[in-house]
Amino acid sequence: MRFKDRVAIVTGGGRGIGAATVRRFAQDGAAVVIADLDEEPARELAAEIEQGGGRALAVGCDVSQRSSVEALFEAAIERFGQVDILVTCAGILRFNLVQDVTDDEWNAVIDTHLKGTFLCAQAAQKVMVPRRYGKMVLLSSGAARGYRARIHYSAAKAGIQAMTRVLAIELGAFNINVNAVAPGFVETRMPQQHADWLHKDYETFKAEVISQTPLQRAGTPEEQAAVITFLCSDDAGFVTGETLAVSGGI
Ligand code: NAD
Repeated sequence: MRFKDRVAIVTGGGRGIGAATVRRFAQDGAAVVIADLDEEPARELAAEIEQGGGRALAVGCDVSQRSSVEALFEAAIERFGQVDILVTCAGILRFNLVQDVTDDEWNAVIDTHLKGTFLCAQAAQKVMVPRRYGKMVLLSSGAARGYRARIHYSAAKAGIQAMTRVLAIELGAFNINVNAVAPGFVETRMPQQHADWLHKDYETFKAEVISQTPLQRAGTPEEQAAVITFLCSDDAGFVTGETLAVSGGI
């Protein structure tokens, strides 16, 4: 019950790494706000948690829209009275080589990842600073080093690491920790999209990635959730401004 009396917002919480993080927070005693563009899985997950005796609220939210993010925080405070923790998992993938990237692709990826993370962090600090308490974990990626066919995604994920350091510097005086997690290959629908773009069978693609991974396997959403929630816990109370790779060593 390490998050007893804590309230956590998880964006992109309806599926994948976000959903695993929501389940872990609920298991460890937090009230959870599940924010997702896709309301259906968020509502189903909230029902699952409430049936298990936890506290959860599903909110339809587009993190790239300021009004939608503000409405998310208002809904969280109306229901649970406070926000202690923010985890930003909302994300999309687009693949294209540099010469073919369209304005729509560029804007969709940058708005969801870079602007969306900024808008959520900005809304979170507004409620955390007066309470002199807060934890944020922002999802970056190994792509921050630069991945083929993902110039927008790589730039956004590198930007999130810089944003993490700026937030840590500015908010540290208010007892707010801000860290990032950079997953490697985690089995959600995202790597499936990558295999599709390469016109490769998923299992073939997966075997290729695994062959380059020191731990010789794919990661699970639950392993990401374990590290994300550790960084939100008081055990990581003196860690801020860091990006932790959770990647099997790739
Ligand atoms: P996923 O596709 O399973 O889940 C992402 C969720 O974000 C979805 O439920 C989607 O509806 C939601 N979403 C998309 N756009 C949104 C928006 N504008 N507003 C609110 N919600 C929105 O993906 P995942 O694999 O769980 O990825 C979670 C995070 O981890 C992402 O930021 C992703 O870039 C990052 N990541 C994933 C991997 C991986 O291998 N899966 C690797 C590195 C980084």
